[in-house]
Amino acid sequence: MSAEEKSKKKVKGRVILNTGHGKGKTTAALGTAFRALGHQQRVCVIQFLKGQGDYGERLLADQFPNLDWYICGRGFVFNREKIEEDKRVAEEGFALAKEKVESDLYDLVILDEITYLPLFGFLDVERIVDLVKNKPERLSIIMTGRDAHEALVQVADTVSVIDPQKHAFNSGVKAQKGIEF
Ligand code: ATP
Ligand code: MG
Repeated sequence: MSAEEKSKKKVKGRVILNTGHGKGKTTAALGTAFRALGHQQRVCVIQFLKGQGDYGERLLADQFPNLDWYICGRGFVFNREKIEEDKRVAEEGFALAKEKVESDLYDLVILDEITYLPLFGFLDVERIVDLVKNKPERLSIIMTGRDAHEALVQVADTVSVIDPQKHAFNSGVKAQKGIEF
C-alpha cells in the first residue's frame, strides 16, 4: 500500500445534511466539492429530482476530471397514478448512489435533493440510513433537500438548516443565470 493510500485510510469521512427552505443547500454542497477538488480529491455528484436546464454547475462538471456527475431525476412524473413509475426511477437513482458510495473510489459523494425520495414515499428512509451508516470510512457524504426526515438528521454528523429570511424570488425577481442556475 502506498503512503498516499495509507493516509487516505486514516481519514474519517463526515456525513453532512443541508436542509431547510432557504437558498444555499445545493450551492453549499458544491462549494465543498470545490474544496475537495482543490486537494485533488475525487467527487461524485448525484442529483435526484432535478429538472432540465443549463445549470452552470453541470456545465462546469465536464471540465473537472476528478468530478463525476449524474442526474437521476428526469423521469419523475409526480402524478398519483404514476407513483409506481416514480418509485422505479427512485430505485434506479438509489442503486446508482449505492454503487458509487460502495465503490470506494471517492472522497466525497453528494446526494443532491435526496430528502425528497422518502418525503414523497418513493423510497424507505431506512435504506438511505443504511447506505450512509455502511459507507467506506474515508468517504464523506453530503445530502441536501428540504424537510429532511428525522432519521437523516440522526445519521448525520453535521446538520445545517437554512432559513429563508428573505428571497428575491418572492419580490417578483426572476431566477438569475449564475445565481439560481
Ligand atoms: P441553491 O441551489 O441555490 O443552493 P437550494 O439547493 O438551497 O438552492 P432548492 O430548493 O434545491 O434550494 O432550489 C431550487 C431552485 O430554487 C434553485 O434555483 C434555487 O437557487 C432556488 N431557490 C432556493 N431557495 C429558494 C427560495 N427560498 N425561494 C425561491 N427560490 C429558491
Ligand atoms: Mg438544491
